Amino acid sequence: MNRTNVGGVSVSTDHFINGTRVSSVDRFEVRSPLDWEWKLADVARGGVSEATMAIDAAVAAFPEWAALGAEGRRVFLNRLADLIDQNVETIATVECLDMAMLEESLRLRVISRGARNFRAYAQLAADYESREWSSNGTDNAVLRMPAGPTVVITPWNAPFMLSTWKCAPALAAGNTVVLKPAEWSPLSCSLLMDLVAAADFPPGVFNVVQGLGEEVGAALVADPRVRRISFTGSPETGSIIGQVAAKNLVPFTAELGGKGPFIVFADADIEAAAQKAAVMFDDGGQVCLAGTRLLVQDTVYAQFVDRLKHYTSLHVMGDSRDSTTTLSPLIHPDHLARVDGFVQRARANGDAVLFGGRPSPTGLWYEPTVIVPVSNGSEVVQHEIFGPVLTLQTFATEQEAVALANSTAYGLSAILYTASDERAHRVGQLVRAGTVWVNCFLVRDLTAPFGGTGISGIGREGGEYALDFYSDLKMLQIKEGTTHG
Ligand code: NAD
Repeated sequence: MNRTNVGGVSVSTDHFINGTRVSSVDRFEVRSPLDWEWKLADVARGGVSEATMAIDAAVAAFPEWAALGAEGRRVFLNRLADLIDQNVETIATVECLDMAMLEESLRLRVISRGARNFRAYAQLAADYESREWSSNGTDNAVLRMPAGPTVVITPWNAPFMLSTWKCAPALAAGNTVVLKPAEWSPLSCSLLMDLVAAADFPPGVFNVVQGLGEEVGAALVADPRVRRISFTGSPETGSIIGQVAAKNLVPFTAELGGKGPFIVFADADIEAAAQKAAVMFDDGGQVCLAGTRLLVQDTVYAQFVDRLKHYTSLHVMGDSRDSTTTLSPLIHPDHLARVDGFVQRARANGDAVLFGGRPSPTGLWYEPTVIVPVSNGSEVVQHEIFGPVLTLQTFATEQEAVALANSTAYGLSAILYTASDERAHRVGQLVRAGTVWVNCFLVRDLTAPFGGTGISGIGREGGEYALDFYSDLKMLQIKEGTTHG
């Protein structure tokens, strides 16, 4: 069994298959974005045989887990939720070193959201198990049948929370799960498997396979025994996995990239809007839901820019473990180069860098950056950058704001700032997005549908929508008067 010490926490660097740790001869290196010289771990690099072993385990464990029913499964899921709550500090320590999200926000909010996911879905699955009514001379029942072995593939940002967001409903609905975390931040999901073992889950119900996407990830999604694939990541990978799912006729849900508009109308509280706009730089801008295209009504443009500069200047670049830090580094040198590449190409294209626009002299930080593009067709407007880079454009009318908001291929989220409730409803209906926030951001109710339109995703998760995806609905009709016994 391979374990390593990560910030004082013992973390297994192996897979977790069929209730036990499984090693691989091949390993991949994980380094800390806080200090790229700091190697955190050599993690097992799974391939086809590990993928097959994990799906074997998920297939074998499925009938018993499904037969437990939602109430029976709730015991395990609630136990796991309690264990997450008891281990928030250690998970936060590891995820901060692995992914560089601010430790304080991990400790206070993000990790416990994982526990909430398990608790909420344990309850929801019990509440939504069946619907019954009579019509046409029959007693009818819609039964939510567990779908089968489910593969969950997750990205490197907020890996613990995003993995639990998908695994909780999949398990609550009665499916067995093989999770493959992203190779740039695989460690917190390994800690989750220690808790799965401590919660006494039956072997094979919840597995983790570590490794690279093109290797073990591709092998997992291609296995014809898999009955659901749930993916969060980039549109490019989503398209590749979607083709495999289509070939095997497997239902597939994809939560993909975003390029959300952040629309500020002249009637808005400009101070509040500018303050929130500066929040888009949090976590190094590595947030799919961020409103990265600032669209500001021309009459308040100067005032908004002035306040945005002010609030941006309050950000503190630093070590994510430090509670005074607000700007964390980017995840990986390759990602830093990618973000800087967008900014350099913008400059060459004639887009104006209003402020920021450079990497820090050392380390993986990038300055909070705002770019005024020469046109709406500029690459920085049309493509997700996934870094602390916002574009800034103006509009004169509400109609123009909506047209600009809807002018990219994405449709994940939108943020509006306005004092008018009527406008909030009107524009909220017209902007193309899975979620629209008005005068707020990242407020989430676990029962709300979540997902994107356009290249931002396929399908919806959240609440009963997730349970629908992770179940096969069965219609049972029994002729009235059929005798008992
Ligand atoms: P990515 O698409 O590169 O990788 C995501 C996951 O897919 C990783 O685990 C990777 O190993 C795996 N993968 C790669 N190729 C694969 C293949 N051929 N078969 C199976 N698995 C494969 O994305 P990323 O860089 O890790 O994450 C950033 C992206 O995720 C951004 O576009 C961001 O917007 C998006 N994201 C979306 C949401 C959302 O809810 N919509 C949330 C977080 C991140």
